[in-house]
Amino acid sequence: STFSALGISKSLIKGLDEMGIKNPSEIQERTIPILVQGQTDFVGQAQTGTGKTAAFGLPLLEIVDPNEKHIQALVLAPTRELCQQIAKQLFKFTKYSDKVFTEAVFGGAKIEEQISRLQRPTQILVATPGRLVDLIQRKAVSLDHVQTVVLDEADEMLSMGFKQDLNKILDETAAKSNKWLFSATMPEGVKKMIRTYLSQNAQRVE
Ligand code: AMP
Repeated sequence: STFSALGISKSLIKGLDEMGIKNPSEIQERTIPILVQGQTDFVGQAQTGTGKTAAFGLPLLEIVDPNEKHIQALVLAPTRELCQQIAKQLFKFTKYSDKVFTEAVFGGAKIEEQISRLQRPTQILVATPGRLVDLIQRKAVSLDHVQTVVLDEADEMLSMGFKQDLNKILDETAAKSNKWLFSATMPEGVKKMIRTYLSQNAQRVE
């Protein structure tokens, strides 16, 4: 298949092309057509290195409205490195498209600098769960307009002890957003999170 047939717009495809990404990977083929429609919860069992970031990132970029300046999508990931990689890929994808503003926030870095960066319009926020909860408590970030919550490497986030933070974030956002959960493995903790926060009709790809 092609990215165009999967529902990705020409300007994003031009960015992909420049990154050497010409043909969709298997997870992208199966995931993108479901996610670009918006309006669904989703569970994907996928390892890293399979093109998972583009599988959720391209649909996010299709869905986000560049004219709306508040946070519309939240991507939660276990580590600083992964947050930075995701934000960097999203930025590269949009080289030829309308600019979508993405920020990455994570623990172990100065929170004051992150707070001041968040004063600028931000449409996609990529965050580790602990730092995001801290920012919410300081009222440095509002999740009122979040329409999509992506949980990347859910199994890793739970094994790193982010369960309470994730619950807090999902308690605030789950009712009014679509949840897209990715996990390499499906331990009981991940299954419980899916049962608690995702629709029973969530679409699944393995
Ligand atoms: P990820 O699994 O999202 O961490 O992606 C792993 C690497 O594969 C990244 O460097 C991507 O830029 C690259 N990549 C993603 N999708 C494709 C694709 N369809 N074809 C070739 N490379 C890709």
